[in-house]
Amino acid sequence: MNIRESLISRFTRYAAISSQSDAGAGRVPSSEGQRKLANLLARELKDLGLTDIYLSEQSVLTARLPENLPEGHPPVPKAGWVAHLDTVDAGANPDIFPVLVVNYSGGDICQNEEKGLVIRAADHPELARYIGEDILVSDGTSVLGADNKAAIANIMTALQYLKEHPEFCHGEIYVAFTPDEEIGLLGAKALELSRFPVDFAYTIDCCEEGELVCETFNAAAGTLRIRGVNAHPMSAKGVMVNAAGVAVDFVSLLDPAATMENTEGREGFISVGSISATHGSAEVGFIIRDHDREKFAQKKALLKTAADFLQAKYPKAEISLEIADTYANIADSIRADNRVCIDYLYAAMEDLGIKPKPLAMRGGTDGSFLSTKGILTPNYFTGAHNFHSLAEFLPVSAFEQSARVTIKLMELISGGKKTVQQITKPYFR
Ligand SMILES: [Zn+2]
Repeated sequence: MNIRESLISRFTRYAAISSQSDAGAGRVPSSEGQRKLANLLARELKDLGLTDIYLSEQSVLTARLPENLPEGHPPVPKAGWVAHLDTVDAGANPDIFPVLVVNYSGGDICQNEEKGLVIRAADHPELARYIGEDILVSDGTSVLGADNKAAIANIMTALQYLKEHPEFCHGEIYVAFTPDEEIGLLGAKALELSRFPVDFAYTIDCCEEGELVCETFNAAAGTLRIRGVNAHPMSAKGVMVNAAGVAVDFVSLLDPAATMENTEGREGFISVGSISATHGSAEVGFIIRDHDREKFAQKKALLKTAADFLQAKYPKAEISLEIADTYANIADSIRADNRVCIDYLYAAMEDLGIKPKPLAMRGGTDGSFLSTKGILTPNYFTGAHNFHSLAEFLPVSAFEQSARVTIKLMELISGGKKTVQQITKPYFR
């Protein structure tokens, strides 16, 4: 088989099924397209020789490729690969029409002649690195959805490679395709771990070639609810407690320098994302993010202090604060006895001549949840740029490199030529 052709044809086949998630749906999967894509993948997995194929009520698809090690081979770890079925709702067209730009010659990329949509080279200087290469882009009305269909195509291509190379020895391999990653890792949370009994796993859910993520945010979301005291203007003085005003007070107590728009790298933040208020009642929705567990806890404590302060200031109001964790930093799950999966990742890139670019991801992956459940799940690149943007693009050469990493990992895990003890590079920071 030709890896490149398999990747492109699979990617376009999966992209043709609209599977944007819907944060307001209140169910998993949040959109029917995700179930449709999962059904297609279930059929394809069967053709590729996988067993124990299971599509749950919530459209979590799991499957197992039995090991084919020669008799007497020492046992090897069970490894899993995870990719998500949904594409992000970027407020654009949910339907994706990929365009293959052949032999990119530099300058702006025209995505859509009719609508005059382009990716501007001036806004995206990173394009210049791919002159002379083929690049997948959207038609400008939607994201490309390399996040995360490039990963699905990657994993399926690797499985096809194993099928066509029976001489390639490997241990048990598990796959999990999850819905609704983009709206709170809901599919990963619905994954039945008994159907994914792996020693460790990988997601393929970040951007350019070489990116490798063993650090994500700790994440929580919360709501401050305020019940005020309403009154007629004739008798409001000294009686009324304006819930809208209390909400404004709350927001003003937060550090204006530690917001999403004013932080980068490993700086955490509290970001207010919604305020609804009347005189009588108000709700402030916010998210908390920090790579550092202690600082994350401090941010939660700060919010609690702010709520207590306001309750004392407005004793006649009813103020309640609710905060729930969403996911945790992968780095906090790394231990001496499980970090081998990260060593494999560095080894795979080194073997392929790819320069690792470790990244403290300002976000989370399905692995940020799975790692808290005891399945350490680092993340590596799809090869794409500009996830969640209409300017998302995927250079085919980087896409191929990403698939080669997957196949190389499968080789190394089954006891390929490089042993992990030889890998001494720091895995993060
Ligand atoms: Zn993703």
